[in-house]
Amino acid sequence: MLLGALLLTILLTSLLHLLIASRRSALELVEERTAELRHQALHDSLTGLPNRLLVDQRVYQFLGRAGSEGRSIAVFFIDLDDFKRVNDTLGHGTGDELLRAVAARLSATVRDFDTVGRLGGHEFVVLSEGPFSEEGLNLVAERLLTVLREPFRLGHTTMSHLSISASIGIASGLRDYPEELLRDADTAMYRAKAMGKNCHVIFAQEMHEVVKRQMALERDLADVFANREFFIVYQPIVDLETGLPRDVEALLRWRHPGRGVVGPVELIPVLETSDLMIDVGRSVLMEACRQVKAWHDLGYRVGISVNVAARQLRHDVLIDHVRETLGAASLDASYLTLEVTESMLMIDSVTTAQCLTALSDLGVHIAIDDFGTGYSSISYLREFPADILKIDQSFVAHLDTSDGTSFLDALIQLGKSLGLLTIAEGIEQMSQLKHLKQEGCDWAQGYLFAKPLPAEKLEQIFNGCLPTEGMIPSADPCLSS
Ligand code: C2E
Ligand code: MG
Ligand code: MG
Repeated sequence: MLLGALLLTILLTSLLHLLIASRRSALELVEERTAELRHQALHDSLTGLPNRLLVDQRVYQFLGRAGSEGRSIAVFFIDLDDFKRVNDTLGHGTGDELLRAVAARLSATVRDFDTVGRLGGHEFVVLSEGPFSEEGLNLVAERLLTVLREPFRLGHTTMSHLSISASIGIASGLRDYPEELLRDADTAMYRAKAMGKNCHVIFAQEMHEVVKRQMALERDLADVFANREFFIVYQPIVDLETGLPRDVEALLRWRHPGRGVVGPVELIPVLETSDLMIDVGRSVLMEACRQVKAWHDLGYRVGISVNVAARQLRHDVLIDHVRETLGAASLDASYLTLEVTESMLMIDSVTTAQCLTALSDLGVHIAIDDFGTGYSSISYLREFPADILKIDQSFVAHLDTSDGTSFLDALIQLGKSLGLLTIAEGIEQMSQLKHLKQEGCDWAQGYLFAKPLPAEKLEQIFNGCLPTEGMIPSADPCLSS
């Protein structure tokens, strides 16, 4: 009996030990799995960086600490420019590899106690505890942009180097909720994109007003085609030797039902956010070519200049649209000039050069608009098939200062030495006209000759019935051959 009881006790004790041990290991397993799941829930699976949820939590913690310790926090919202192109042309494998490389580069650039996160897609964020001066914020952003501009060497791609850029929006200081800080940084990032990408912008309160207005415009744009609310005004470009109009620039306007006429400075950035820009750009091109052909039929042989938006340049269909439009209007390609701004040449220069070369091969002229403001290097000009330099109006406006004069003269000489036709924009005074003639500038455009006008008014100018100050009225309606 005693032996039996002893054996039973040993058996029960071992069973108890076994139960305790397996419970412990089950608990350890659950803990391990929970930690793993928590990590997965808070980190991005591709890069291993904190995801949006953890970024939100960190901002919340930072804000709590910052409030009590008199410190501040800065959010750098980083969006890779034109990332879709990498995926589309080199495949998703390369795209993923690039995102991992970007994550590693950003992590290696910031301080140990900063947070680098991925918010999704090609959006990253850096959280940093301050205090920060404006200069300090600019320095950090520039450092981040510089490391991202360094070419990437990726295993999957046949290209030895892949160059990208990014746009950064910065918000700093205190807010009631973490989302507000991230939203403000996001708003500033959109401003950086609108400024031509590859740059950084610090958030300012008035940006919200701009965004609100843009969103309202975006909503109103839905019916714009059906209601025929867009229209074009035309501004003559005058030959400075003869004083006669040689070309006409087509400029877009929107007759907004509630706000009156909205100009392109406000309208184009809203259109640029969607493919509506492609449709609007196409209809401007079609209407402008139709109009100039109608003028030719009346005997006014002027050319037509049409502005091209960045989104149109990135789209292959632009070349087809131009070819079709010339065909539909029966217009000789040599009468059409497409204007691209200097800053557009800097974005995605290889694709832009290919697109402009194809357009030039059709026989149309290419003008570099707003020249002198885009900070492009002069060597860029040789890479693009440009025929015309349109010198930005700010240089003409500063003609009364000695610096202004030398800049304008240097730009005219540059155009001449490259064999390009030079056009000065924004001529408002006779003294400016005189100076441009003296310097040998070829053509000019500005309020002195005429403001942008409806087509019928321009016909009166062609006829010499609507005299203008700077232009010699034409006795012969056949303005140029
Ligand atoms: P831009 O191509 O450089 O056009 C010249 C701008 O300067 C026009 O402004 C014109 O009204 C203005 N201007 C002309 N002469 C003078 C002058 O003597 N003094 C002053 N102060 N201004 C003068 P607008 O019409 O507001 O157009 C602004 C910009 O919007 C254009 O600059 C062009 O880049 C863009 N844009 C206009 N229409 C279109 C379009 O159909 N498509 C695209 N993508 N962009 C367009
Ligand atoms: Mg233009
Ligand atoms: Mg211009």
